[in-house]
Amino acid sequence: MTERQILVAANWKMNGTLETIRPLLQSVIQGLEGIKSEMVICPPSVYISELATLLDGTQIKLGAQNVSHLEKGAYTGEVSSLMLKDFACQYVIVGHSERRALYGENDRRVAEKFIAVQTNAMTPILCVGELLEERESNSTEEVIARQLDAVIELAGIAAFKNAVIAYEPVWAIGTGKTATPEQAQEVHEFIRLRLARHDNQTADIVRILYGGSVNAGNAEQLFEMADIDGGLIGGASLVAEDFLTICRAMR
Ligand code: PEP
Repeated sequence: MTERQILVAANWKMNGTLETIRPLLQSVIQGLEGIKSEMVICPPSVYISELATLLDGTQIKLGAQNVSHLEKGAYTGEVSSLMLKDFACQYVIVGHSERRALYGENDRRVAEKFIAVQTNAMTPILCVGELLEERESNSTEEVIARQLDAVIELAGIAAFKNAVIAYEPVWAIGTGKTATPEQAQEVHEFIRLRLARHDNQTADIVRILYGGSVNAGNAEQLFEMADIDGGLIGGASLVAEDFLTICRAMR
């Protein structure tokens, strides 16, 4: 079995101003010593350029929260994958549940974004996850399979060699309700097995992050699970000490 390095990605969402992100980042950078996990920060897109400068020379990588599925042209308000690449972004979140629910992104659109990210040699962080009513009606696996299969169909299984998956149960995002390590592990294992139906080796190397109210107190138990390879962190990534504690949690 491959030894997968823990990856912790911060999703700042639409939070912060120059006045607040500079000291936040400074505190994170000051606390990096001894952290062995891979770290990524995904700021709002207008701050990507600022972070590219501030993160230069540190071990923290830069990511984006969203990208257009299109290459260029008359698409007011959109940001292309090539533009993100220009600022040395290495990761891009695609298919976050907030994008799916609030901006009408369907499985096909998410798959197109996944491909757009890889076209410019960056790594997509593909979010999948079920709603509360879907969990309660025992459709979790069906939903996750549908979301994954749409990307496998369009991008091909080999594309997952350079991708990260984030399992984010929608009922756990920003609610303070975390999935138990066992609940999360069960879905992570399902995701890996779903990929293994196409290619065992890809399934073995792909990192599957858990997201949904991860905090300084629960990260360690989550990351201890066999198929949980790190986290996608919303709220707790806005507090330097909490984010650093999560990044120090090891298997
Ligand atoms: C997220 O938005 O990806 C997320 C997991 O948020 P939170 O950690 O705040 O639940």
